[in-house]
Amino acid sequence: MTNLEAFKQLLAGPRKVAITVHTNPDADALGAALALSSILAQQGHQTNVVSPNSYPVFLHWMKGIKQVIDYEKKPARAEQAIGEAEVIFCLDFNDLERIGELGKLVAATSVPKVMIDHHLEPDHFADFEFWSIEAGATAELVYDLAVQMDWLKYIGPEEADCLYAGIMTDTGGFRHPNTTRHIHEVVAELIGLGAQTARVAKLVYDTNTENRLRLIGFVLSQRLVVMKEVGVAYIYLTLEDQKKFKAQKGDTEGLVNYALSIANITMAAMFTEAEDMIKISFRSVGSFSVNEFARKYFNGGGHNNAAGGRSEESLQDTIEYFKKLVEKHKDELKYDPNE
Ligand code: 5GP
Ligand code: MN
Repeated sequence: MTNLEAFKQLLAGPRKVAITVHTNPDADALGAALALSSILAQQGHQTNVVSPNSYPVFLHWMKGIKQVIDYEKKPARAEQAIGEAEVIFCLDFNDLERIGELGKLVAATSVPKVMIDHHLEPDHFADFEFWSIEAGATAELVYDLAVQMDWLKYIGPEEADCLYAGIMTDTGGFRHPNTTRHIHEVVAELIGLGAQTARVAKLVYDTNTENRLRLIGFVLSQRLVVMKEVGVAYIYLTLEDQKKFKAQKGDTEGLVNYALSIANITMAAMFTEAEDMIKISFRSVGSFSVNEFARKYFNGGGHNNAAGGRSEESLQDTIEYFKKLVEKHKDELKYDPNE
């Protein structure tokens, strides 16, 4: 952040603070937001975390998660929190369109906005930007900000667990190229502050319901399509499938990685049918940018190797369109063993 002194001034006295996260918030968005909320609350600020919609049940253990205001479920409460706020933080997203209707409420306020984010191509809407694409996770940026602000004393075991969860998941369990020396150093510090890494890993990755496990089995055997010759694999999931396996929020998270894990696949996609749209997840290995792909064709974006988007067409039409695009980009999608 270039204007750190002004940021310090902004928080010099107790403030009413709203912290918003992106739609379908993940462990990074919520972990970063809840840790920040606790850090600020300990300094006398009045904080509210506002989410555009609901969050996965496997994050229920995070400190303060029960107080998160879900805009879809409690619009009046969310509007009040945004309307009253004297400072609005935007975590793990960099364009107010990412939070839908909630973004319009945020944009309509005149109070200072603080963006903390690590996605590509920000829309510069915020007065304070703590933004870096070098960061593997927004939780890492919250930690770095805490160092600069002398806030480490407010990070206890529970806050450290929240930040660790964000880092662990956004680096794909320390496997993606965003796993830097610095992020390992941050994790070492978080462990020093009390983070219980094995507990968090168990809570996030190994707390499946039987239904979820059976859903994964079904998806891998019935809903996985491998286009071997072009290095692409995709998974799709209908509303009917989700009903059959009683899919909960978060149950489909990470499934796209199974498709990407196939040898010689350079891009994977997952199409999840919702009531009003098709939600799409993209992953890639190497230089093929799914951020650009999602941004150009599916009204989305994200990172070079992990991005998301949406389609208003039917599931079938969306997949047909995707296949045509794959054909168009097949030269760039060729597997390169050196990458
Ligand atoms: P996921 O596939 O796990 O939902 O998202 C992968 C990455 O892309 C995340 O960093 C997420 O924030 C971003 N992302 C997901 N959906 C969208 C979208 O619709 N628009 C934009 N700009 N980014 C998205
Ligand atoms: Mn993130």
